[in-house]
Amino acid sequence: MKQHPSKYTGLSTFLTHYTEFENAENAHIPPIYQNSVFVFKDTDSGAVIAGGEAPGYYYTRLNNPNHQQLARKLAALEAWDLIRQNPQDDPEDIVGGLVFASGMAAVTAAVLSSVKAGETVLTQAALYDGTYLFLKNLAPQYGIHVVWVAENTPEGWERAFTEHPDAKLAYIETPVNPTLRLTDIREVARIAHRYNARVAVDNTFASPYCQRPLTLGAALVVHSTTKYLSGHGQVVGGAVLTTDLELLHGDLYQVYKLLGATSSPMDAWMTNIGLKTFELRMERHCRNALRVAKRLEAHPGVARVFYPGLTSHPDHALARVQMMDYGGMVAFELKGGLEAGKRMMDHVRVATLAVSLGNVDTLVQHPASMTHRNTPREKRLAAGITDGLVRLSVGIEDPADVVRDLVRAIEI
Ligand code: PLP
Repeated sequence: MKQHPSKYTGLSTFLTHYTEFENAENAHIPPIYQNSVFVFKDTDSGAVIAGGEAPGYYYTRLNNPNHQQLARKLAALEAWDLIRQNPQDDPEDIVGGLVFASGMAAVTAAVLSSVKAGETVLTQAALYDGTYLFLKNLAPQYGIHVVWVAENTPEGWERAFTEHPDAKLAYIETPVNPTLRLTDIREVARIAHRYNARVAVDNTFASPYCQRPLTLGAALVVHSTTKYLSGHGQVVGGAVLTTDLELLHGDLYQVYKLLGATSSPMDAWMTNIGLKTFELRMERHCRNALRVAKRLEAHPGVARVFYPGLTSHPDHALARVQMMDYGGMVAFELKGGLEAGKRMMDHVRVATLAVSLGNVDTLVQHPASMTHRNTPREKRLAAGITDGLVRLSVGIEDPADVVRDLVRAIEI
């Protein structure tokens, strides 16, 4: 029997129970359906399932119980507020989603399903490197017109829509990787809706613990589930969650099905296991990150710290209204620039030198030479990604250990 998400008052109760006990075998933890095909009872019932006229599984690239479970849970998590506002409605009439083999598969599916050849997508100048490269190099090859909104303010978006009134999509990433600058989702959505355009938000950095773009007017949320949602660095995955059910069952499903970047059942299963501790982990990530950010800001060797929870952050006022907490990501610059940053990164012992983010342990990396090496230097600098910028994904360790480690490595 399907449960209704609004019956759970707390996030952790929802995450540990919702969709969990619905398998035919009554397994406490849902089985991993590690199979490519599903058996039809007879030719007639096989034909209606294959034709999409009756529910049922038949081929894992198209659907699988592990995908279905994870997509339902993630969709209800992102639409947590909307579902609570409409408890009489079936959540599947409010929101739905698809899970993908990676965050990039989710990003590209969100764009390709919303914008066709000859149509326009508006996007901010600073983005995750992979998204930037897709929009800069690949999307135009398929006839998609990409317009970069240089001034990432409501006024800048208003101007961009005035100049491109037929744009179909506003694509946002907030907080942006790695400088943690914010985009005003509610304002961009208000403007985009006047022009009948959809808004898609990459919510990877904030996670639905800190920010719920669907509540703020976005139609699509994109995730690299590789990060906070799975949480332990054990999975590469992605998801698109949307309140636009026509898009979900139409163009988005076509892109999913025909580009074929389906998640493995095992990865979907592991992400679902990770989600059970999502609220607990996020509470700790946020608390630790604030403590690390404050300590770094007070250190004489540190030139600047970027964390939306600091009052010194240029978008702190927006963060206070748009976000429920400020996340686990911190970026900073040492006074000694690149050389001091490299020395520090080479001497950490608790933090690990690696890309990616959202793992239970603290990771440190150098955006200019690692995650953002493909973004041209002048574009990087314009986006605030200086040569000396260091990015931290603060883990859930004892915060005193993380702080001590960073301070020791800075002072070497
Ligand atoms: N979006 C953001 C904000 C990211 O940081 C990343 C990866 O780091 C992606 C999307 C792409 O995700 P994946 O590496 O799972 O493809």
